[in-house]
Amino acid sequence: MRLALNALTDELRRLKAQGVSSVSVSQEGLDALRRSAAARPAAAQGSGEAPKVSRASAAPAVVAAPALAPPVVVLPDGDKNVRWAALCSTVQSDPACTAKVRPGKKVVVGVGNLDASIMFIGEAPGAEEEVQGEPFVGPAGQLLNKMITGMGLARSDVYIGNIMNWRPDMPTGPSGVQTGNRPPTESEMAHCLPYLKAQIEIVSPKLLVALGATAAKGLLGWKAFGALGEVRGKWHEFGGVPLMVTYHPSYILRNPTNSSKRLIWEDLLKVMERASLAISDKQRNFFT
Ligand code: URA
Repeated sequence: MRLALNALTDELRRLKAQGVSSVSVSQEGLDALRRSAAARPAAAQGSGEAPKVSRASAAPAVVAAPALAPPVVVLPDGDKNVRWAALCSTVQSDPACTAKVRPGKKVVVGVGNLDASIMFIGEAPGAEEEVQGEPFVGPAGQLLNKMITGMGLARSDVYIGNIMNWRPDMPTGPSGVQTGNRPPTESEMAHCLPYLKAQIEIVSPKLLVALGATAAKGLLGWKAFGALGEVRGKWHEFGGVPLMVTYHPSYILRNPTNSSKRLIWEDLLKVMERASLAISDKQRNFFT
């Protein structure tokens, strides 16, 4: 059994080196993996030599790695709800994620329609999001909701995720309250990216929309561009899925002019066209 586990470990490492972040495994396979891991001698367990396997029932196995190294997510068989629930429980119990969350705050996973055609991807939870445990529920979220409504959709029609599952830490003020937000570091993003990839795999959207430079860097690569203007408003690809890059809604919060709104809106019109959504003349002329 140990030989089989070692072979599996090598295979997972090989896949990971090739850029594979998640693989499907049957419930029987997962059970066998758990039995095998449980049978390993205590000295080998936790030695860092071989992957640990999550024992939460129906939770995907996570191959543990040194701090902040990207996890390998193994999704269980099942329908989208089963796979998504399993993923949530894994992310919410990931030691690297939970260690970054302050007492009383939450690890944040994506939310929305698991059959969505369009998936919006933001940067990281902010103050409101880490309290509620849901992406885009603060001021930027209110604006994102308006953008979605402008497209003729409801928030419940789309899926909304983030590059990050926790709010990047800032120094706390004298009251012990964290104020402000900072962009995540490259290694913080690399840790959470497999979880976003797993959400994309589960939802299987037709189109992705990256909101802002951090989301675009997370998906296109840390050094893929200098200024957001180089990639914004154009179609790219992530994991074979067409990806539109646009501004983050907080850009509008900082620049609430019709011309800024029009820039984002033009990008969203391209998304609507590619998603074959009906576009009225009124919609075409928003913010002109
Ligand atoms: N900004 C983001 O990028 N994501 C959120 O969830 C909230 C604000």
